[in-house]
Amino acid sequence: MEQTVEIKSKITLKPSRFGKKYFVKTFGCQMNEHDSERVSGMFELDGMQKAESEDNADILFVNTCTIRENADDKLYGTLGQLKKWKSQSENRKLLVGGCAAQKDKNLVRDKAPWVDVVIGTHNLTNIINLLNQSEDWGPVTEIIDEIENLPTDAPSIRESEFSAWLTIQIGCNNSCTFCIVPSVRGPEISRRPVDIINEAKQLVNEGVKEITLLGQNVNSYGRDLKIDNKSRPYFTQLLEKLNDIKDLERIRFTSPHPKDFKEETIHAVKELEKVCNQIHVPLQSGSSSILSKMHRGYNKERFLDKVDMIRSILPDVSLTTDIIVGFPGETDSDFEDTMDVIRYAEFDSVYMFKFSPRPGTAAYNMHDQFIPKEIIDNRFDSLKITQTDISERRLKRFIGTEQLLLIEKISKKNDLIYSGKINSGQITHIAKDNLNLGDLIKVKITDSTPFFLKAEKV
Ligand code: SF4
Repeated sequence: MEQTVEIKSKITLKPSRFGKKYFVKTFGCQMNEHDSERVSGMFELDGMQKAESEDNADILFVNTCTIRENADDKLYGTLGQLKKWKSQSENRKLLVGGCAAQKDKNLVRDKAPWVDVVIGTHNLTNIINLLNQSEDWGPVTEIIDEIENLPTDAPSIRESEFSAWLTIQIGCNNSCTFCIVPSVRGPEISRRPVDIINEAKQLVNEGVKEITLLGQNVNSYGRDLKIDNKSRPYFTQLLEKLNDIKDLERIRFTSPHPKDFKEETIHAVKELEKVCNQIHVPLQSGSSSILSKMHRGYNKERFLDKVDMIRSILPDVSLTTDIIVGFPGETDSDFEDTMDVIRYAEFDSVYMFKFSPRPGTAAYNMHDQFIPKEIIDNRFDSLKITQTDISERRLKRFIGTEQLLLIEKISKKNDLIYSGKINSGQITHIAKDNLNLGDLIKVKITDSTPFFLKAEKV
C-alpha cells in the first residue's frame, strides 16, 4: 500500500524507496551533524534503512564543510574516490550538500559530474524531491539564497537516543574574516520560542534526557523576533522556559559569541537547575590586533573581563574555547598574547585549528600576510603542550567527587565500557556492569586524563 507522510504541512513525501539503504558521511561542525540527522530522518520516511557503511549503500549523502583545513581539497578528493563507488551500480545515487555545496554551486558537478544531486544549506527539506528529479530527469543542482523551509521542520534520526541537538537559530549576522558561514548559511533567523519548546517536549516524549541548543551565535537568539510587538524572547528567557519542561534533565548550548555574552545568561546557568555548568567561549586569538583583523568585536581585555565575570559568578564552571593558530599577520608577540589568555583563563579544553585560507572569506585575500607552515606548526605544538598540562590539572579536580553521569553510548574502543558526560560536560567512562544506556546515575570519579574521566557507580 502506498503511504504518504506529511511533515508539519510543508513537505509531503511519498515513501518510494523501501528496501533501499542509505549512508550519510558528515564533515564539519555540530550544525552539519544535526543537518545530517535531519537528512537521515527524511530518508527513513522515504522507506530507506541505514546501511552499515557506504559499501552496502544505494544512496550516499555527503554533507560537506568549508571550515576545516584544506576542506576544498578534501571534498574533491572524497568525491574523486566516490566515482568508483558510484560506477559499481547504475542504481546508486550520490548526493552532496552542506556549506561547500552552497559555496561552489555548479562547480561541484563541473568537477565531479558523477554526482546526482547537489543541494544547498537552505533547501535541505527538498532533498527527496531532488532525488526523485534526478531519477526521472538526470543530475540536478539546486542551491537557493533564501531559506525555503527551516531544516528544523524535518524529522531526524539521532545518533543517541538520550541526547539531542535542538536548533534554535540558523545563520549568522557577524562577519568574522576567516569564516564562510554568513555567506553560505545566510543571516540569523531565530525559531519561534513556541516551536522550540514544542520540539523539546517532543524529544522528551521520545526518551531524550539532554538537549543541546544549537546556533552559530546562540546568545543573540531572538534579536530578530518580536513577540506582541514589544518584548523579545531573549536567550535567557528561552532557557527559563526550557528549564520548566517536565522530565527534561539537562540543557546545554553552543556556540555563544563572547561579545554577546550577557551577565544574565551566566546567572541563568547558575540558577536554572537543568542548565549545565559548562560554557564555551570561542576566543580565536588572544591578540587584540589579530582579533580586530578577524572582526571579532572584542579585544583581549574585554575577553578577559568576560572570563572574570563568568568565574566570579560560576567559580567551578567548565570553560572551553576555540583557537586559530597562525592567522595572517600573527607575530610571535600576538601568539604570546594568545598563550597569556590560555594560561590565565585555564580552560578545561581547547579546540585548536591551524589557519588555512578558505575561498570566499576575507582572510583568503590576505596572501601577503600568510604565516609559513613551520611557524604555524611550532606555535600549534606549543599551544597543545601548554593546554594539555592545563587540561590534565583541571580534570584532576573531579577525582574523588560524586557526579551525575548520563550514559550515552558504548565506548568505540572497548565494548565493555560505557561513555557519557557529567553535568559539566567532561566525557566519562564507566564499566558496563548492570548499567543501561540512558541511565542518569550518581558516580564517583576515580581517575582522570587530560581528555576524559573514569568513574564507578556509587
Ligand atoms: S560568529 Fe563569526 S565565526 Fe561564528 S558563525 Fe558567525 S561569522 Fe562565523
